[in-house]
Amino acid sequence: MNQKIVRVAINGYGTIGKRVADAVAAQPDMKIIGVSKTRLGAEAYVAQDRGYPLYIADLTKKKAFEDAGIVVTGSIDDMLGACDIVVDATPGEVGASNKALYEKHGIKAIWQGGEEHDVAGFSFNSSCNYQDAIGKQFVRVVSCNTTGLCRLIHAVDGACGVSHVTAVMIRRGADPHVVKKGPIDAVVLNPATIPSHHGPDVNSVLPDISIATMAVIVPTTQMHMHAITIELKETTTREEILALIAAHPRLGLVKAVTGIVSTAELKEFVMDLGRPRSDLWENGIYEASVSVVGKTLYLFQAIHQEADVVVENIDAIRAMTGIVTDPDTSIQMTNESLGFVAIGSE
Ligand code: NAD
Repeated sequence: MNQKIVRVAINGYGTIGKRVADAVAAQPDMKIIGVSKTRLGAEAYVAQDRGYPLYIADLTKKKAFEDAGIVVTGSIDDMLGACDIVVDATPGEVGASNKALYEKHGIKAIWQGGEEHDVAGFSFNSSCNYQDAIGKQFVRVVSCNTTGLCRLIHAVDGACGVSHVTAVMIRRGADPHVVKKGPIDAVVLNPATIPSHHGPDVNSVLPDISIATMAVIVPTTQMHMHAITIELKETTTREEILALIAAHPRLGLVKAVTGIVSTAELKEFVMDLGRPRSDLWENGIYEASVSVVGKTLYLFQAIHQEADVVVENIDAIRAMTGIVTDPDTSIQMTNESLGFVAIGSE
């Protein structure tokens, strides 16, 4: 590893962008050179409080920001001129329209799961295909649900082979701060057709996995819950699966002795552990649910939608810039810099 410090810009300082910015700032081999906002709001104050130079999409709004006491360093174009790599965390389907801008600046770019695979032509998960991302100019970090599925399926496949996966995603209705989205009192098929987009999305990272997914949205904001059935190629035991999970840096085990049987209790647990923003960066696999019957594995896992992709963005930066070529080293650096080991593995 050389000592190069990668200069990172965050385009879109929202739910994901502000978390990635804090994670970048915690890395010894990366530096935040700026974050961007389109509108004046609470997050602009947070960026200033954190000491991140703020760039704005429309410089005609500069006076409004400055009248509110927010220092504006320049335009998004200026920010892109000062970085080695940009993490695009603009809302889903907005990011693709920024590609020409990134190409103009000749910089590397990472998009999020709200964009199509084709925007980058490469979909990333650090536990699955880190080395294939080395040196790439463009990468897409897959969505929170796909990230959680890929981590688990790849680990189980490596241990005992996967014949087929069936996964039901019980999805949160909106992020906690989003006040204008529902449902308030319904279980919504999303979509009513099967499979949901998650299975094909898993195949953008793990093309050889046979998988069918179904998804519903429910009135909660805390986390997603997955009910997963995996048909195995080789026999295994519950104990072997639990050991596999406990040894994995991004698979957390919600121990049965904690008594935690919900997303709300898990969020409270993570908050009590002192995690920033009560973020669960790893999968939350409920130990009590892990069952092996014949050659079939069953389990429930919680996925914190705002958090699990954050650490993936950090590893993607290392892979694309080539500053660390070994996935395990990068994953360990990322976890250590944020001060965590996966729950249930201590
Ligand atoms: P968000 O709405 O919370 O944040 C987006 C930010 O981008 C906002 O600050 C907005 O002001 C800013 N913005 C909007 N248009 C812009 C533009 N043209 N240029 C610069 N900034 C602009 O969105 P989010 O939830 O952080 O989602 C970002 C991406 O991450 C999406 O692709 C989404 O699908 C994906 N993602 C979201 C979640 C989640 O649960 N929130 C989980 C995983 C992946």
